[in-house]
Amino acid sequence: MRLLIKNIKELLQVRENNIDSVCGAEMAVLPKIDNAFLVIENNLIADFGTMSDCPDDKFDNIIDASGKTVLPTWVDSHTHIVYAGNREQEFVDRINGLSYEEIANRGGGILNSAKKLNATSEEEIYNQSKVRLEEVMQQGTGAVEIKSGYGLTVEGELKMLRVIKKLAENYPIKIKATFLGAHAFPTEYKENHEAYIDLIINEMLPKIADEKLADYIDAFLETGYFSVEETERIMEAGKQFGLTAKIHVNQFTAINGIAACVKHDALSVDHLEIVTDADIEVLKGSKTMPVALPSCSYFISIPYTPARQMISAGLPLALASDFNPGTTPSGNMNFVVATACIKMKMTPEEAINAATINGAYAMGIAATHGSITKGKSANLIITKPLTSYYQLPYAFGSNLIDQVIIEGQLI
Ligand SMILES: [Zn+2]
Repeated sequence: MRLLIKNIKELLQVRENNIDSVCGAEMAVLPKIDNAFLVIENNLIADFGTMSDCPDDKFDNIIDASGKTVLPTWVDSHTHIVYAGNREQEFVDRINGLSYEEIANRGGGILNSAKKLNATSEEEIYNQSKVRLEEVMQQGTGAVEIKSGYGLTVEGELKMLRVIKKLAENYPIKIKATFLGAHAFPTEYKENHEAYIDLIINEMLPKIADEKLADYIDAFLETGYFSVEETERIMEAGKQFGLTAKIHVNQFTAINGIAACVKHDALSVDHLEIVTDADIEVLKGSKTMPVALPSCSYFISIPYTPARQMISAGLPLALASDFNPGTTPSGNMNFVVATACIKMKMTPEEAINAATINGAYAMGIAATHGSITKGKSANLIITKPLTSYYQLPYAFGSNLIDQVIIEGQLI
């Protein structure tokens, strides 16, 4: 199967030699080719260049992209797409002035999602989750990380991870699974954290490893949730089972969690709405990718990750959706990119780098995804006709996507 896309007005994120991420001032550079062609062969990017070099041999399919922009699909390295039911009642309660605590006392929050998940069959969770997966694929997401964390029981966590595995088997989109048993303490363990962490380490982890259900391990490192020491125990245990850490940290408070994550070679540290100078220092020169989740800041009105401060310090930054029922009921990466420009003052180039190549790094797939490079997966967004790619974040509420190609397949 050979496919040609010709007359591309702007082909974005072209990297002749593959890179695994961009940081600091490099983030402002988004290499592109004007008036370009691109060839897909066996679901991979086989060739690209300017139209003057466009091959005129036989193709199974030719797409004319006159006036349109082509770029790599979004890589969403942080989601909780698999869940049961929703939390729209809490959304309305919050509008009506109820505090987070009052909502939690009414049985809201993560524990609310856990209760619903444990009461829902695996098949039904799959059916609800696939609708969301199909939606984000239409919105240009070509690779996605999905976390467990609404089970909080051995069976519930396994059930979620099996649903993620089934989604990965049934859809062309690249999926990585993350075990997030340490999302919250179930009510019966509120006064006995030790016992729940023992359950995660001694019961959940061996079973998950046995069924090969997870690629990564995560924890909610936050005041009132998992302490630095508790998260370190979980990261160490994960490492024993070959699971690298990707950690929720610095969403509400800075308690030196980032240093612990870097020390344990975490692939990414995610949220970072509250970041200190010491946090930035410790990330410098590390292999840990900071990940910002601006849709979450938008939805629950908390500060945005200080992107300018971090990029000025020379750090890389990735963008992800955090799609989840409580704090971000949206997986639209176009909105994430626009919000990063509008609210975090990232340039379009920085935001697109953050949502493609740096997202791929945060998912551990930069060798195959995140840029227009020969030999990489054919994962492409073809936009509607645009005056320039600046329109992507500028016209933030418009659907500017015409076609999406994921692993060589037209979606
Ligand atoms: Zn999250």
